[in-house]
Amino acid sequence: MRFFEDILNIIFPKVCCVCGAGLTKNEEIICFHCRSELPKMNFSNVKDNELVNRFYGKLRIDSGLSYLNFHKSGITQKLLHQFKYNNYPEIGKLIGNWVGHELLKNKISDKIDIIIPVPLHPRKERKRGYNQSQYFANGISEITKIPTEFNTLQRMYYEESQTHKSKEQRWKSVENVFRIVDKVSVDSKNVLLVDDVITTGATLEACGHQIMKNGAAGISIATLALTK
Ligand SMILES: [Zn+2]
Repeated sequence: MRFFEDILNIIFPKVCCVCGAGLTKNEEIICFHCRSELPKMNFSNVKDNELVNRFYGKLRIDSGLSYLNFHKSGITQKLLHQFKYNNYPEIGKLIGNWVGHELLKNKISDKIDIIIPVPLHPRKERKRGYNQSQYFANGISEITKIPTEFNTLQRMYYEESQTHKSKEQRWKSVENVFRIVDKVSVDSKNVLLVDDVITTGATLEACGHQIMKNGAAGISIATLALTK
């Protein structure tokens, strides 16, 4: 098997998804150099941090963790672009693995019953070919062994581009976009809600409200990146 992998690697050399350099046998998806350059957030306080504070007064978050700091034109942006639009969903799984280890270390995972990713509208998912947040959720689940649930939280409307809208308009447009189709799957559960990147937080907030309205015991949030 190894032999065929080596042959394949000669014909189609694996390259770093950020810088394009050839990967060595011990590197996966992202080279060691780029990995060391990643702007990692501080994970020491999962109860009181930039992510948790962003939801203050809007949605009660038990704990929150974003893996990377998002700067436009930075390495995180390149990574997220590849992840979302360039058919590179494995990036989400890899960073999900790293986040999984942080959740174990901070003992957040002890209190979580289920992982739910922010859903795409089915039409958008077909167009893109995958929901990037599901890969991220799978990566976390692989390490923490917490089960994922992909079918209960649904996005009901196909969203238009939101970039030209104000903060308030954006919030209004996502407020009633999500629904829970199977109440039992969230009832009395501590849910880890996951997404690729937090900008305004409006999408996660809307999802969180739906989950809590359906009887969940609590919400924690993990994302790949957090914008300033
Ligand atoms: Zn690289």
